Amino acid sequence: MRLILLGPPGAGKGTQAQRLVDRHGIPQLSTGDMLRAAVKAGTEVGRRAKAVMDAGELVSDEIVNAIVAERIDQPDCARGFILDGYPRTLAQADAVEAMLAERGLKLDAVIELVVDEKALVGRIARRAEETKAAGQPVRKDDTPEVFEERLREYYKKTAPLIGYYYAKKMLSGVDGMASIDEVTGQIEALLAKMPATV
Ligand code: AMP
Repeated sequence: MRLILLGPPGAGKGTQAQRLVDRHGIPQLSTGDMLRAAVKAGTEVGRRAKAVMDAGELVSDEIVNAIVAERIDQPDCARGFILDGYPRTLAQADAVEAMLAERGLKLDAVIELVVDEKALVGRIARRAEETKAAGQPVRKDDTPEVFEERLREYYKKTAPLIGYYYAKKMLSGVDGMASIDEVTGQIEALLAKMPATV
């Protein structure tokens, strides 16, 4: 099963992706996590991405597409994967389709977590508080100012993907404002209706 989780920052993509990993035994491919790992490791990609990420802007399609192309060839992706935070631009959407087509594969579904934009800023502030309370480092891009920029980037560059996948009849929406369990339930109900693929 090859799935895209779509939605603005703070919509709960990471949380739901993690649940899908546990239930379906396929990996979560979070480009945000991969880029943060590259920054931490001080690789060439990390060096190029750091300032852009700190500003809440999008890293170049070229960098992100290359990371994903490499990742999907890993053996743990053979049965499928959950794309979390990718694609984020129309160019990335075209790229992933081409990448999969080259390998004789295709996407099974795109699930949009539909959320109320106004609630997101509060959600992300809570995420920062909880992380701090747990004694863990807070993401630099979870500050209110940078978060606002990430939201702007989403509406400018990523939201057009909703129309793109809708037109391809691949888009399903779930209520991202419902409880975490309810959202998982809605996603599972959608997946249960899908033809089984590997
Ligand atoms: P995330 O953890 O998904 O919120 O991503 C954190 C940051 O990583 C984003 O604000 C971007 O700077 C960068 N990033 C993650 N995924 C992508 C992507 N698909 N395209 C461009 N930049 C990305």
